[in-house]
Order: sequence, then C-alpha cells, then structure tokens
Amino acid sequence: MARYAMVIDVSRCNGCYNCFLACRDEFAGNDYLPWSVAQPESGHRWIDVREVERGIYPKVKVSYIPRPCMHCEEAGCIGPEAQGAVFRRPDGIVIIDPAKSKGLKTLSDSCPYGAIYWNEEKNLPQKCTFCAHLLDLGWKEPRCVEACPTGALIFGDLEDPESGISQRWPSGELEDLHPEFGARPLVRYVGLPKTFIAGEVVLGDRMEECAQGIKVTVISGSQELSIETDNFGDFEFEGLEGDKEYRLVIEQEGYARRELQVSTRADLNLGEIPLKPLG
Ligand code: SF4
Ligand code: SF4
Repeated sequence: MARYAMVIDVSRCNGCYNCFLACRDEFAGNDYLPWSVAQPESGHRWIDVREVERGIYPKVKVSYIPRPCMHCEEAGCIGPEAQGAVFRRPDGIVIIDPAKSKGLKTLSDSCPYGAIYWNEEKNLPQKCTFCAHLLDLGWKEPRCVEACPTGALIFGDLEDPESGISQRWPSGELEDLHPEFGARPLVRYVGLPKTFIAGEVVLGDRMEECAQGIKVTVISGSQELSIETDNFGDFEFEGLEGDKEYRLVIEQEGYARRELQVSTRADLNLGEIPLKPLG
C-alpha cells in the first residue's frame, strides 16, 4: 500500500499560481465521489500560495509558500467535532466525506493550518484531497504538482524506496510548517524563510567609496559566523535562529572595531554602520 507525501521547496516557488489554477481547473464544477464534490468557482484555495514579505526597505525579501492540506498524521480535523465525517485512507490521504459532512460549518476551526473551506452552496466543508481520484486511476502525482513549472512541488510514495520523496524524507533538510502544532504533516518543506540581519558598512573617512571585503561576525555563546561585505559594502546573515540575542562585530585594519547587540526577534536592517578611522 502506498503512503503519499509531498515536499515543497520554497526556494523554487516563484508565485506563478499555476498550482492553484490547476487545482481549480480539476475541481471547480466536477464531483469525484466518494472523495470530493465540486469546488465553487471562487473563494476556495485548496492550495493557497501565500506571499511572505520580510525586512524593511531597501532590504526586503519576498517568498511564496504554497499551503495545501498537510494530510497530518495527527490531524486536528479527525476529532469528535468531525462526527465521523473525516477519515484517513490507508495511503495517508485525509478525506472529508462529502456525504457525512453536510452542515458541519465549524469543522474548519479544527484545522490549525486553515486548510478547510466552507462551500456555502453545497453546505459542506472542503479541502485538498491530493487528487485522490487521479491517484486511484494510476496517476503518479496531483494536478498541482504536474502544473508546477519550477519543480517546487515534489510528490511520491514513501513506501517506494526508488521514489525521490522516500530518499529525501528522512533527511534533516525537511521542516514542518508550524512544528508547534505537533500535527506530523505529510507535506513538509525545504527553504522556509528564516530571520536575517543585514546592513551596510561605510568607512568614516571614505564615505563616497563602497566598503568592500570588511569582516562582519555574529556571535552567540560559543557560536561564531563570519562573512565579508560585498562590493557595495553590504552584509547579510540569513537563516539565523529566531528570537535570539547576538553580538555583531565589524573589524577592519586602521579603523575602530564596532560591536552591536542585535536580536532576531524580527528581520533586521541595521542600515549604514560607519567605522571611525584610527588616529
Ligand atoms: S492540514 Fe488541517 S485539514 Fe489537513 S489533515 Fe491537517 S488538520 Fe486536517
Ligand atoms: S506552480 Fe509551483 S512555482 Fe507556481 S506558485 Fe505553485 S508551487 Fe510555486
């Protein structure tokens, strides 16, 4: 028996929404009983591509995070409030039974990821099914994965040792979206955006020149990470652990050393940091 899962590589997602459009094309106006009935023409995002903007101008980063139903192994939606209307197939796909879920409007509150949508016309809750109807016909992947032009969505069978996904799944590179939910999702991520610290070093006596190749170090306890400013005098530490205090040290021969206390409670653009010449 297959056990389906998806990996989403956020660094490859360009926000083109092809996955969302393919999902709508597949499900709007089409019933696939017993797994799903037609999605409405608008309002539902069974795969929701969320734009995340971080930082402060001019150091701004944009990421796109596609979010389908996570097909959680500890699914909040399979609880008493579902009244038996939500179940997990043997292949891991979590299904809201269209026949049993009529009128269960509060079911969407049980999903910590906000993956369940209410269909007003049909009076039932709905969500992504991993295109269960197509997999049952022998398809290897859902429509969203097939439509993705960048390879950001990777789908496969964890029970198949030859599949790309079963080789990636145990690796330490994968992360859960909101691990604090404890949901053990069958959709996991690579490249989720992390906190960054950025700034620009300027030399006090050569303000008109770009301060290239200057050593900048972040220190936390016994951990140190050093980089050099680029040819604009800019530096950037990406992927730092969030909600932590760091010491930032800037050193250049002939200039007074600078030390700053910084925190990764949020993305940080320190702006221009001038170094005073010695003597
Ligand atoms: S993401 Fe939400 S709807 Fe999907 S399985 Fe998990 S709890 Fe249920
Ligand atoms: S189709 Fe692929 S690249 Fe486009 S938004 Fe969806 S996941 Fe991102």
